[in-house]
Amino acid sequence: MRQLKVLISGAGIAGPALALWLAKYGAEVTLVERWPELRTGGQLVDLRGVSREVLQRMDIDAAVRAASEDNFGLSFVDGRGRTKGTLRSDQFGGDGPVAEIEILRGSLSRVLHEQSQDRVDYRFGDRITSARDEGTKVRVEFESAPAESFDVVVGADGLHSELREMLFGPETRHLHHLGTYVSFWTARNHLGLKDWTVVYSEPGRTIGMRSIVGNTKVMAMLTFRAGRPSYDWRDVDAQKRIVRARASGMGWEAAALLSQIDTAPDFYFDTCSQVSLPAWSAGRIGLVGDAAYCASPLSGHGATIAMVGAYVLAGELARTPDDVPGAFIRYEAELRPWIRRIQQSAHAQGKAMTPQTSRGIAFRNGVVRLAGHVPGKELLMRSQVRMSNSYPLDDYSRHLVGAGRS
Ligand SMILES: Cc1cc2nc3c(=O)[nH]c(=O)nc-3n(C[C@H](O)[C@H](O)[C@H](O)COP(=O)(O)OP(=O)(O)OC[C@H]3O[C@@H](n4cnc5c(N)ncnc54)[C@H](O)[C@@H]3O)c2cc1C
Repeated sequence: MRQLKVLISGAGIAGPALALWLAKYGAEVTLVERWPELRTGGQLVDLRGVSREVLQRMDIDAAVRAASEDNFGLSFVDGRGRTKGTLRSDQFGGDGPVAEIEILRGSLSRVLHEQSQDRVDYRFGDRITSARDEGTKVRVEFESAPAESFDVVVGADGLHSELREMLFGPETRHLHHLGTYVSFWTARNHLGLKDWTVVYSEPGRTIGMRSIVGNTKVMAMLTFRAGRPSYDWRDVDAQKRIVRARASGMGWEAAALLSQIDTAPDFYFDTCSQVSLPAWSAGRIGLVGDAAYCASPLSGHGATIAMVGAYVLAGELARTPDDVPGAFIRYEAELRPWIRRIQQSAHAQGKAMTPQTSRGIAFRNGVVRLAGHVPGKELLMRSQVRMSNSYPLDDYSRHLVGAGRS
């Protein structure tokens, strides 16, 4: 394609994935990340359905699988640690509640960065302060670097995207809180779990641990149900106080896990919110991943839709490099219906993960017990598995540099 000069904001999942694809199509790509280095924190993210095909087309399938975590399944337990229901990852064709490819968010980010760093100009510790679409170019000002013009600017800067705010106004207009909060931090594997997750629920709150890094550690997780957020999402100490207060007095292994929050090298806390925008772009400036259409961790599809969105956006830009606004519009028109279905499915997942009542917890555990044993259990998950696989990926391979024509 004509060599487009592209600026991407955000080196999470969607940003480096988009950067890698665009470099493969011959674009000149700069990626600016607010943090001074790659952020490697975060829980396991799932790569489901068609995102596995994207990995193969990207030629990073082997690298991602090598960096992914073995995960054989999940048990729900009671306060004394007795198993009340079990789900295995080999159920439901690898697209069930426990997905076939589970990878630490930081590991996926690292693989994408490693694969793209030779071809992309990564600039850590900087951010966009203004982006003005001048019709044929976008004039961008940065916090540190001198101002520069680009053909395309893409915000892959996550749930609290600043570029989205510049385009569409404050996030309070576009973020929809699903009534659940989620927190993750690394802790000791004091129960000696082997490639396994254990989860314990009390009404309105759930705590769990999942063995990681060759079973040397666990990723601890807390979810709780509460109303609209009123804290400053940038204040990590305030977040930790909230997590401790909300989990206070919980049974099972909660005390042991909570005692490690302050020493954990990583701590993540956020609302489970979804982003709903009137449009994913304006002219030559667009959004991808959580910035555009976050479905929340409850959907189990955050990384999947970030990877697929990056694939489609890069492909459409490669298809019509002389019509950038048109490429953004086609990308959105193609993806939006699928993303909407995924966002809708997250509501039920939130209720299942963190039931509000003791009866709800017993019901959830009973369904899980049955799901493991009843004949035809695949039917239980059929619509979810279909949804993950239902996006028909277009073929953009003719635009790859060296593919013959571009
Ligand atoms: C530290 C962290 C931990 C996470 N942990 C989990 C988790 O455990 N489970 C889960 O389901 N989801 C988690 N998420 C969200 C998950 O990564 C996304 O839902 C999904 O992978 C989509 O990726 P994304 O690239 O759109 O957004 P993200 O992965 O959120 O990446 C956004 C990137 O943009 C950067 N950024 C933000 N603002 C700016 C700015 N103004 N300028 C430049 N760069 C900016 C951020 O530092 C980050 O690197 C986490 C996100 C982060 C940032």
